[in-house]
Amino acid sequence: MSDVMFYGILRMPIEMAMNDELSRFQFYQTVQQALERIKKIEDENKKLKEFVIPILAHGDECVGDWDGGELQDLAVKSGLYIEKTMTEPCNLGREEFVGCPCREYCYGDESWECYRIAEFLLGNE
Ligand SMILES: [Zn+2]
Repeated sequence: MSDVMFYGILRMPIEMAMNDELSRFQFYQTVQQALERIKKIEDENKKLKEFVIPILAHGDECVGDWDGGELQDLAVKSGLYIEKTMTEPCNLGREEFVGCPCREYCYGDESWECYRIAEFLLGNE
């Protein structure tokens, strides 16, 4: 369903939404979809806040005091990075990871962690 249709149904006057069984069913189904969207957005917003608030409220230290490792750990903890243990380079034959440097950072190790941006941030869901 397009967004124009989705919002159009949700904004229908109550007389129109409740006009007949079909319109009531369509309105109910669209409300259920709206609830799913709200839940998803709330979950995403929670993850973003869990990442941003500690950075901005860093106590006596400045925002610039965060180092890359701390930011990486916070991104994993808040769900913005998905940590995946790798045993072979993730960029072999996979176009979406062609620029991933994880193997170079851990060269010589038998396994290493690859930090992938959460799908919801990439809009690929
Ligand atoms: Zn990787």
